[in-house]
Amino acid sequence: MASILTEAEQYLLDQIRQGRPQAWEQFVDRYQGRLEAFARSKLRTPADAEDLVQDAFMSFVQSLGAFRGQASLETYLFAILRRKIINWSRGRKSSICLLQDALPGGGQDDSGDAADRLAAPDQTASWYVRRDEEQERRHQALAQAMQELVDGFKQSLNFRDLKITEMLFYCRLRNKDIANIAGVRENHVAVTKHRYLKQLVEQMAAVSGDSLSASDDSFLTAEGSDAMLCEIWQERRLSCLKRSTIGAYLLGTLERDWHDYVTFHLERLGCQFCRANLDDLRRQTTDDGTRRLRDRIMESTVGFLRKP
Ligand SMILES: [Zn+2]
Repeated sequence: MASILTEAEQYLLDQIRQGRPQAWEQFVDRYQGRLEAFARSKLRTPADAEDLVQDAFMSFVQSLGAFRGQASLETYLFAILRRKIINWSRGRKSSICLLQDALPGGGQDDSGDAADRLAAPDQTASWYVRRDEEQERRHQALAQAMQELVDGFKQSLNFRDLKITEMLFYCRLRNKDIANIAGVRENHVAVTKHRYLKQLVEQMAAVSGDSLSASDDSFLTAEGSDAMLCEIWQERRLSCLKRSTIGAYLLGTLERDWHDYVTFHLERLGCQFCRANLDDLRRQTTDDGTRRLRDRIMESTVGFLRKP
């Protein structure tokens, strides 16, 4: 499994693996606020939120050896925390978008829930083992094709289709609901979906450098392909906002098209990971609570550094 970490993330991780307390402190400082904001959005009692955040950092440091960079550090941490929140609330589902809560019946089934899988290192390992080399190659090619699709939307400012594909493959909403939200006919959603699936198959072929056989062609139309697309979208958080973009949104310095899209992602779709970043950036000061929790996390976790 190829790592998708940035060089800076990899460096920080290496420093932590070598047991350097400053690196760990920097890491905790960087991610604590957004995790806390996420936990607070899910739990009524701030003290419970703090406990689970502390717990999440503990799990992270203890599972350092198992982490292979299959998601960004932020996404991996969110996944661990989300798993803890689900366990804590006795298995109650934990949506990733506000829209899923707002619609009757929520999104759809969450069999392809990437966060769930990422958060359980054992499960992750076996899941990847289950995939043979060929499947792995295909997974990578599809992930790359999806990334290119999303980048293309952004470059051409085609936010209309970005929103539709995001609702299809990130939140897995029904065509009918997407049509209502996007203000288009249901048939338009179906056609859009078909067009981009076809494009993904073609791009996959280009990426992996071979022509697809008939059986490959059926791959993306097959039952379960939606789950796989959703899994990749969630695992890579393909359409999620950079923290700097959220910062610019807060400052009101984004161009209009971008501002509209960011508003959609944060407020309408309600991506809970990006909303946690937004809350964190809003609150980001040296408020006492943040500092107190930071000290608690450091105290409880630093002893686990550099333990086999
Ligand atoms: Zn997001």
